[in-house]
Amino acid sequence: MKRRKRLDPARLRRALFLEAEPAGPGAWIVSGGAAVHRVEEHRGRLTCDCIDHAVRGGACKHIVRALLCPLHPVILAALRTLVERPNRKRSPDNVRPR
Ligand SMILES: [Zn+2]
Repeated sequence: MKRRKRLDPARLRRALFLEAEPAGPGAWIVSGGAAVHRVEEHRGRLTCDCIDHAVRGGACKHIVRALLCPLHPVILAALRTLVERPNRKRSPDNVRPR
């Protein structure tokens, strides 16, 4: 059985404060961070155009936010009240690759 990677709680927290919009089948535009990023699904795998995903692989905060899309907005808003809003400092995962 394939073992799933554990979700980084810090990325989940940052993801809660981003916005995501569907951009066609299997694609989302994620905004609200330092830059806007595109998340896409290819053969069941999610990819993002951010540097964090390119360097580290796995689920960056943008991918996590895309995965939260099925949640009702009221649930998402309630989850935001449970965690502290992250600082808007620059980190490797919100720098857009060149
Ligand atoms: Zn990303």
